[in-house]
Amino acid sequence: MSKVSDELYEEITTITGKDRVRNDSFERRMYSHDLASLPKLMELGFKMMPDLVVKPKYDEEISEVMKIAASEGIPVVPRGGASWGLGGAMPVEGGIVLDLTRMNKILEIDEENLTASVEPGITWKMLQENLLRRGYIIGSYPSSAYAATVGGWINTGGVGVGSYKYGSAINQIISMEVVLPTGRIISTNGKKSSNFGGIDLNRLFFGAEGTLGIITKVGVRIYPAPQELRPVSYAFSDLNDLSKTVRVLTKTDIVPLHISFLDRNHFKFLREIGMAEDMQQLGGMLNIALEGDSEVIDLEDEIIENIAIKCKGEKQSQEFSEHEWKERFYELRTKRAGPSAVLGEVFVPVSSMGNMISATNKLIAKMKLRAAITGMVSDRNTVVFMPYYLSDERKLIRNIASLSFVKKLGDLAFEHGGRPAGLGLFFSGNIKRMYGHGYGVMRDLKDVLDPYDVMNPGKTTEGLTRFGIPIPSFALNLGMNVMSWVKHLMTKDKGVSA
Ligand SMILES: Cc1cc2nc3c(=O)[nH]c(=O)nc-3n(C[C@H](O)[C@H](O)[C@H](O)COP(=O)(O)OP(=O)(O)OC[C@H]3O[C@@H](n4cnc5c(N)ncnc54)[C@H](O)[C@@H]3O)c2cc1C
Repeated sequence: MSKVSDELYEEITTITGKDRVRNDSFERRMYSHDLASLPKLMELGFKMMPDLVVKPKYDEEISEVMKIAASEGIPVVPRGGASWGLGGAMPVEGGIVLDLTRMNKILEIDEENLTASVEPGITWKMLQENLLRRGYIIGSYPSSAYAATVGGWINTGGVGVGSYKYGSAINQIISMEVVLPTGRIISTNGKKSSNFGGIDLNRLFFGAEGTLGIITKVGVRIYPAPQELRPVSYAFSDLNDLSKTVRVLTKTDIVPLHISFLDRNHFKFLREIGMAEDMQQLGGMLNIALEGDSEVIDLEDEIIENIAIKCKGEKQSQEFSEHEWKERFYELRTKRAGPSAVLGEVFVPVSSMGNMISATNKLIAKMKLRAAITGMVSDRNTVVFMPYYLSDERKLIRNIASLSFVKKLGDLAFEHGGRPAGLGLFFSGNIKRMYGHGYGVMRDLKDVLDPYDVMNPGKTTEGLTRFGIPIPSFALNLGMNVMSWVKHLMTKDKGVSA
């Protein structure tokens, strides 16, 4: 049964106009999942189809919708580019999906104070391109920048391209405007300068995965465009040598813009789709982007070269390095060899990088997947692993059994002193393991800010099915183990071109 009656539908259309409210089944189906397309079987546990899709343009509209939702107990799910795969933007109890991509304007660029005020639905790519035309850049952004929105990346607590130098999404924020679950509109800072002292409200909403409020405006830091950006790439025949280079580099004073890596399988898949040369001896590629004044870069380039060569790295041509830098947005290009791909994401300490690579490779071999390891170094302490496997959605059982890779990868991260990136719906069962007693405080905060439990319910601090019952973690673990064993017993995956 729909949670939105005909009367409420009419009321909501008077807020936004009829053209920005949709209740037809085609549109609702489109909004029933995020990046991860899920088997229909999932509908037994979750009411993934929203009852209504609303496409607001102004914060006041969102505030009015939230007031109705709070008084009627209707779940509201904020959604940006839907490029996160953990079910954050997927309804679990139906209700309203708020598509924020129509709020995509740059409201102000303040060149004096080096800030820009933007709406939450603008993509990082669009923002960066606009700023570059004026001689400015944004510090860091996700490699999914073509689809990822400003509000979405902040809510997933993201790190990405440029995080080694400029930090995570939180470091890009000066202030935010947020519509609370009760409809109240607040500002987290209200100034164009940094906020010191007091409770940091920016941090409160950062990484909240759309469960504490809806971000409707963001004040971001901007920087003058650098004199030079120089990518350098090193090929290694052994990934252990690549890891050693990273460990040495993190202990120097050099702060590259970005450090990322790709294993041999990634290039093998690229070759399968006709987009790479034969690189038989390759174990992995280390890509480093240096940014700043050319004289400083010359020096940094030389020091890095000494480190990499001592660790048996082979410097690649400038042309190749430039190509790798351009490819930073297209790591899933290889999915054509699948013809689909599923991405996992976990954080581990830098010291565990080598062991995590070996453990991930063992898991890939055990599950007989066609998979590649890619990742980045997000700061001196942390490596982000983003391995992916190629899949074929038409092979239902094989496809379902393979999904357990992402859960198993998360377990490996815990074993190596790290954790999965994000909770969403699918990893919400990890919250106690990740935060211990801090979990109780998070839950209390959620209850205070969202007294009617309408703001993206069933996620993050709780993993709930459509019946309001928690996803049983024992059954989930057992199910995942069974699925990975089923996959282990199957023949090796074959690609479309293999
Ligand atoms: C190829 C590829 C590369 C990727 N690279 C990276 C990377 O480098 N770094 C990284 O961190 N992630 C990466 N991701 C994951 C994903 O793209 C990012 O998390 C992205 O920032 C999500 O943004 P989105 O707009 O798509 O959010 P969505 O998927 O729409 O939403 C994500 C969560 O945020 C909430 N939300 C969205 N907008 C708002 C808002 N305005 N207010 C409140 N809540 C909101 C949603 O409810 C949901 O819980 C990658 C994914 C892919 C497929």
